[in-house]
Amino acid sequence: MRTDVLGVAFDDVTMDEAVDRALAMLEEDGPHLVVTPNPEIVQRAKQDPEFAQILAGAHLVIPDGIGVIYAAKILGRPLKGRVPGIDFAAALLGRAAGMGKRLYLLGAAPGVAEQAAVNLQAAYPGLVVCGVHDGYFQEDGPVADAIRAARADIVFVCLGFPKQEKWIAANGEAAGARLYIGLGGSLDVFAGKVERAPESFQKLGLEWLYRLIRQPSRIGRMSKLPLFLVSAAGARLRGR
Ligand code: UDP
Repeated sequence: MRTDVLGVAFDDVTMDEAVDRALAMLEEDGPHLVVTPNPEIVQRAKQDPEFAQILAGAHLVIPDGIGVIYAAKILGRPLKGRVPGIDFAAALLGRAAGMGKRLYLLGAAPGVAEQAAVNLQAAYPGLVVCGVHDGYFQEDGPVADAIRAARADIVFVCLGFPKQEKWIAANGEAAGARLYIGLGGSLDVFAGKVERAPESFQKLGLEWLYRLIRQPSRIGRMSKLPLFLVSAAGARLRGR
C-alpha cells in the first residue's frame, strides 16, 4: 500500500528498505523505475498527467524532500522519514559495488558525468562505471543504444524532472538496463561541482534553505513550497 501525498503515491520506506527493494529489482528482468519526488515534483505532476502516470507506474517512489514528510504529517498519514535521492544512490552503490554491478551515468553538462565517474569509483572500490553521457543530446535513440552496448545494470538519469522520468519511460526498455533512477542534479554533486548542505542543515531538514542561500535564483521554484503545505492542510480539512 502506498501513501498518497497530494496526488503522488509514495512508498513508506526507510533508506535500508529502499536500497533492499532496489537491489531486488536488479535480480529481475527490467526495466524498473525509481523516482525521488520532492514537493516541486508533486506539484508538477498535478499539471502534467503524463508525468503523473509515469510516477504512478514507478516501481519505487521515495520521499526525497522534507516538504513531502511535512505534508504527509499534515495529511494525517505520516511517512517513516526522508530518503534523499542522492543518499539513496550512494547507499545503493555502497552495496552494489561489491556485486560487480555495472553503472551508467547519464546527464549534466559535458565533462560532469566523467568526473562523477572518477569520484564514485574512488569512493566505492569495485564499482564498474560502464559508460557516461552528458545530458544535452538531441536524439534519444543513440543514447539508449550506447547504454545497451555498455551492458549497464543501473542507470542514473540526471536530466532534471520531468525530462528524466519521461526519458526513462520512453527509452528504458531499449536501453536494456534493469534499474533506472531519476536523480536530478546529483551528478553535479558527485562530480564536486555543487556542494551539498553541511550535515547540520541536513539533520534539521533545512537543506532547501542552504541551497537557496547558495543559489538565490532558485527562489522562484522554492516560493511554491509554503503553498504545498497549505494545500496539504486544505486537503486534510476537506477530509482527503
Ligand atoms: N540537465 C541535463 N539536460 C537537460 C536539462 C538539465 O542534463 O536538458 C541537468 C542539469 O545540467 C543538472 C540537472 O539536469 O545537472 C538538473 O539539476 P537540478 O538541480 O535542477 O535538479 P533537481 O535536483 O532540483 O531535480
